[in-house]
Parts: sequence; C-alpha cells; structure tokens
Amino acid sequence: NDALLVVEDLKTYFPLKKGLFGQKTGEIRAVDGVSFHLRQGETLGIVGESGCGKSTTGRSILQLVRPSAGSVRFGGEELVSMPPAKLRGMRNQMQIIFQDPYASLNPRLTISTILAEALSVGEKGANPTEMRERVLALLQLVGLNPNHADRYPHEFSGGQRQRIGIARAIAARPKLIVADEPVSALDVSIQAQILNLLQDLQEELGLTYLFISHDLGVIKHISDRIAVMYLGRIVEIADKRRLFEQPMHPYTQALMSAVPIPNPNQKKERIVLGGDVPSPANPPAGCAFHPRCAQAMEICRRVRPQELEIEREHFVACHLYGSSEKER
Ligand code: SF4
Ligand code: MG
Repeated sequence: NDALLVVEDLKTYFPLKKGLFGQKTGEIRAVDGVSFHLRQGETLGIVGESGCGKSTTGRSILQLVRPSAGSVRFGGEELVSMPPAKLRGMRNQMQIIFQDPYASLNPRLTISTILAEALSVGEKGANPTEMRERVLALLQLVGLNPNHADRYPHEFSGGQRQRIGIARAIAARPKLIVADEPVSALDVSIQAQILNLLQDLQEELGLTYLFISHDLGVIKHISDRIAVMYLGRIVEIADKRRLFEQPMHPYTQALMSAVPIPNPNQKKERIVLGGDVPSPANPPAGCAFHPRCAQAMEICRRVRPQELEIEREHFVACHLYGSSEKER
C-alpha cells in the first residue's frame, strides 16, 4: 500500500455555546465519520456546498483543529493522538494554502522576510546570502520575479498573492498540501493560471494534494479522484472520470446535473434540489440527504447508509445500492 494519508472514521464535533444556565446545548457535527486514503503524488478533490464540512476535514487532517475521534495516519504515523510537540516537528511535511493568502501574510513584512521565515522551518544555519538565493529561487518557482522580493503584501494582485501563499507553503518541502478553496477568490482568467502552477509544482516536487472546493469545474480540472461531501460525510468517492460519467449517489447526480456539458446534443436534465442544507447541529436521522432526495425510501429516514464499494475504488453511501442494519 503506497498511501501517504489514510483517514478512518474521522469525526470533528464542536460544542455549541453554553446556554444561560451553563448547560450544553448540543454540538455541531462538522465532520461525522469520514474515511478515505490519498496516494503519494495524487490529487483528491473534495467537493460540496458551503458548510458541508470540507474545510474542517482539511484542518482536522492537519491537526489545526483536533478531531473528536477517528484516525489520521500520515506516512504511517497516527496524528490524532500525537502530542503537540511531536506534531510541531512534522508541520513542515504538511502545509495548507488558504482562499485568501492576504489574511495570513503579515502586512509589515516583505515577501523576502516572509519566505525566509518559511524556508528556515525545520532547518538552521543558512547564511543571509544563501537565504537570499533560496528566496529568489522560490519566487521563480512560483512565477514571480526577483524584484518582487522586497515588496510588501499589499503591493500584489490577488493572483500574485496566491503565488506567494503557494511559495510559502512549498518552502519547507512538504509532502502533503491541503488547498482550501485556493482559487475561489480569484478572477476566472487567473484561476486557470494558479491551477496550472499547482499542477506543475506537483509534478516537479512530487506533491500530494487534498484540494477543497465548492466549484465542480475547478475540482474537475485538478483532481485525479473526487470525494463528494454532504453534511459532514463523504457520500461518494471515485475516480474523476467515473464520477462524471456515472455518478451513483442522488446528491452527486444533482451536483453534476448543474454543470454545463460540452456536447449540447447529449441531453441532460437538471435536477433541482428542494429545500436547504439542514443544520449540522441537528442532522436528519438515517441518510442525512433524505429530506431533499427524490428517491428516498422508508429505510432512508431511519438507517444511516454505509459506504459500499460498488466497483473498484468507487464508494457510495446510499440505500439504493445495498442496505445496512446499522441504526443511528
Ligand atoms: Fe436518497 Fe435514500 Fe440514497 Fe439517501 S440513502 S441518497 S435518501 S435513496
Ligand atoms: Mg470552506
């Protein structure tokens, strides 16, 4: 098994604010039993509507949020129970790219200082000349110029700032990068440039990506495999082509039906979902999608569907494809 990352039954619950008399008023089940693996060098896209738990999944894997339960093995090491001190030692191997890098770039520091800081994580002893060279090499790697080094974050465009965010993420030579909506704030024309940069860097540096987005077009562009999330769970996961050609879960089918298709002779009916996404503080029993599912059956209201491997590496959690006894 060449999996770099193995996630099993990951759960991250947040307690809701205490009530007036200090009583707990419940919890938000942001991530509610997520399992998947990620191979060295591949890109797994996680797609889902806002609030489905995809960002929390990414942060829980990196232990930026500590999970409530489950297992995250990275390079064979269990992260969920790992003490913070040991975890800090592994930080350079796992990095995150945010939607808005500006929010996380110190406005008072030059790009050179920001990158030098990132370059020296887990490493000491580079002299200033060496460090300067490495900063310039890093800028070149992400498509920026040497004369960008001494400027401040506010002097850059959105696309350039994301290049800086990417440079900072790859500085310490990580193995895994969680990219959380990295192009969602950018103009469409800039999005493709950044996605292509990420793909080039992946090839050059052997990076593994967990790529989170609400945008199915972006996910399709970048992913090898795709996981579809709904209310804290993965409802379907498959190879990109299989997922687009033959979506099995009714929620995936609805998502896909909203994507314009290149060949207009191929007729596709748009499936419009009724209702809103229910609150993760009070998820529906059984299949969490049942209040919006046109194919819901009686069992769907009572029994949580388990993931079923219906063909190699194609998992679906839906009673249409098999039943399960596990009540919740
Ligand atoms: Fe629809 Fe039932 Fe499948 Fe859920 S389990 S997606 S409600 S058919
Ligand atoms: Mg998010």
